[in-house]
Amino acid sequence: MAAGPAPEARSLMDEQTFLDNFNNLKYPRKTYLCYEVERLVGENHIPLDDYKGFVRNEGADMGLEHRHAELIFLERMASWNLDKELRYRVTCFISWSPCPDCADELAAFLRENRHVNLRIFTARICERFPGYDAVLRALKAAGVKVAMMTFHEFEYCWKNFVDHQQDEDKPFPPWDNLVLKSEELSQRLEGILQNQEE
Ligand SMILES: [Zn+2]
Repeated sequence: MAAGPAPEARSLMDEQTFLDNFNNLKYPRKTYLCYEVERLVGENHIPLDDYKGFVRNEGADMGLEHRHAELIFLERMASWNLDKELRYRVTCFISWSPCPDCADELAAFLRENRHVNLRIFTARICERFPGYDAVLRALKAAGVKVAMMTFHEFEYCWKNFVDHQQDEDKPFPPWDNLVLKSEELSQRLEGILQNQEE
């Protein structure tokens, strides 16, 4: 395998990787994060295709120090030096909701970068950490719009972040119970976000 940094612009995910990792009924150990950036001008959102792509968490299986996808993404976003005179909306589609450490880092970035709005759509709620629900409330309090991925977002990612080889119009193949699971998770997320701190 060639050494060197992964290409930044417009790297696409292969179909099976997307289907395996974003399926909201599965429990893969990896985390994938797709991102895109828009410039906000008045009521308009102008897509910036140079800042569009995906990252995944790095772990021992890659011979690398363990790093969560969100931190890799934050590093990448910081390297862009988005113009402080302008306003941006960053959207992340993450296969698992952030852990407490990553949520802290995201909130810190937003405090220092008031010109950036962040939206997170997540395929699944990660419950591995104590206080995972407080983490989601903390993100909301930091100004992040947090929501579950619905059919619309899964299809959007399929069209925008996945490599369809020769067949650009290949329709998104939903898995069984996608919508049902997404609705169930959305209700749970709504309950979590409305809950007061214990
Ligand atoms: Zn994390």
